[in-house]
Amino acid sequence: MPAVTPKVELLRYSPNPEELIALAAKLCYSHADVEDLRQGVESKDQTKFIKRLMDMGHESPLEHASFTFAISGVSRSLLAQITRHRIASFSVQSQRYVGQRHEEGEFNYILPPAIEALGQEAVQKYHEQMHTMQQWYNEWVDALGNAGEKSNEDARFVLPNAAETRMLVTMNTRELAHFFNLRCCNRAQWEIRSVAWQMLELCRKVSPVLFANYGPSCLNGACPEGAKTCGLAKEVRAKSDALNASIAEE
Ligand SMILES: Cc1cc2nc3c(=O)[nH]c(=O)nc-3n(C[C@H](O)[C@H](O)[C@H](O)COP(=O)(O)OP(=O)(O)OC[C@H]3O[C@@H](n4cnc5c(N)ncnc54)[C@H](O)[C@@H]3O)c2cc1C
Repeated sequence: MPAVTPKVELLRYSPNPEELIALAAKLCYSHADVEDLRQGVESKDQTKFIKRLMDMGHESPLEHASFTFAISGVSRSLLAQITRHRIASFSVQSQRYVGQRHEEGEFNYILPPAIEALGQEAVQKYHEQMHTMQQWYNEWVDALGNAGEKSNEDARFVLPNAAETRMLVTMNTRELAHFFNLRCCNRAQWEIRSVAWQMLELCRKVSPVLFANYGPSCLNGACPEGAKTCGLAKEVRAKSDALNASIAEE
């Protein structure tokens, strides 16, 4: 079956992100030169300073540390949502240059858990629908001359939102805070929420100091969703605490 599930890897990140952020912030308030500041930052744990900085709301130093993720096994529907985050950088697998008629089978796609939960019959119907769309796609590739990207770029119009895509995403720490606020929230759609929590876990493993309290807005105060609140702030905080505890144990 070509159904796939989301996979998130943290490929690269700024080394010692707390030190870099602390250095940027201290430079704002000090007469000392950069080398002295650097030595000072490297010789002392920056946990307290970082916490104070975040409480102050002085957020621009957070922009100096970046994190790059490889995300695969996600739908074009997720792509439409994640790329709305304009402060992030993206490289996305092309449906023009990468044709979706594979010798070994059919295009990969995402099976929504709610459809899976309907049972085997519903799942079978979904697979058949994907298979039909693959046939439509193949027909158009042939009708358009089977000429690589020239054919792919129009044949892809009959592919579904469910089709798999892959991407590299880079966000700085300040943008990650905003992204996690919106996308780890229970109001976010299930697929991007699942990806956001995976990204958060990977970031917390790198820097518990920076990321321990990152997540949906309700981790750090009242839910801002008003009448649309999920009403599960307590459970969400427990999930976040459990994640921190399991990371601390590793
Ligand atoms: C639950 C949910 C439902 C949604 N439903 C819809 C929907 O139905 N339709 C729809 O179109 N979108 C929808 N969205 C997407 C949403 O409107 C935003 O486009 C998306 O969440 C990106 O947020 P952002 O613009 O704050 O983030 P980013 O683009 O990451 O920007 C980060 C911050 O930078 C600042 N910023 C960035 N660019 C500008 C700018 N040009 N001018 C001023 N400030 C800027 C803002 O403060 C912004 O919050 C939904 C999002 C969520 C979480």
